[in-house]
Amino acid sequence: MKVVLATRNAGKIAELRRILAGFDIVGLEEFPSIGEIAETGVTFEENALLKAHAVAQGSGLPAVADDSGLCVDVLNGMPGVFSARWAGRHGADLANLDLLLAQVSDVPDDKLAAHFACAAALALPSGESRVVEGTLPGRLVRSPRGANGFGYDPIFVPEGESRTTAELAPEEKDAISHRGRAFRALAPVARELLTS
Ligand code: IMP
Repeated sequence: MKVVLATRNAGKIAELRRILAGFDIVGLEEFPSIGEIAETGVTFEENALLKAHAVAQGSGLPAVADDSGLCVDVLNGMPGVFSARWAGRHGADLANLDLLLAQVSDVPDDKLAAHFACAAALALPSGESRVVEGTLPGRLVRSPRGANGFGYDPIFVPEGESRTTAELAPEEKDAISHRGRAFRALAPVARELLTS
C-alpha cells in the first residue's frame, strides 16, 4: 500500500522505508500540487498532525509526517517547536546553535540537560489519525564537535555517550534518535490502522 511521507528529504524517506517495510513509501515530490505547509502548531504533535492531514487530503492517500526539535530544560523546553527558526530565519542552523549557546553561557555545565523530541503522525484521507512521540535525552556542550548530522547535533551529547550526535555514524544515530524512536513506535500503529 502506498503511503506518502510529508517531506522532500531523501534521507528521511529512506529511513522510513527501512522502518515501515512492506509499505510503498513515496515522498512529496510525487505531489507537486501540495505546496509548503505552514507549521502553525505550538506542539510537535500538533505540527506533525497538521502536516499529515494536509498531505492525506492533498494526495488522497495515507500520509505520515514528523515534527521535531531540541528542548532545553533550563529554557523551559525551548527552542522546542521553534528549533528550526530560533534565530529568526528558518533553517539557519549555525545561527540557531550560536544563539542557543549564548543564551546558556552563564548556566553551569551540570544544568545543561536537554532532549531531542519527535512526533510522528499518520493521517488517512478519511480524517482518522494517530500520533506518537520519541525522545532522546542528553545534555548540551559548549564547543561544537563533529561533522555528521545537522542542526543542533554538534552541541548535543546523548545520555550514556561522550560523543555528540554529530560525531556518531548515521546508523548509530538512527538507532537511538528521537526520529528513529518515533518512526519505530509508529510502525505497529500504522500497520494496524492501514490493514484494518
Ligand atoms: P524538522 O522537524 O525537520 O522541521 O526539524 C526541526 C528543527 O529541529 C531542525 O531544523 C533542527 O534545528 C532541530 N532538530 C530536529 N532534529 C534534529 C536532530 O536530529 N539533530 C539536530 N537538530 C535537530
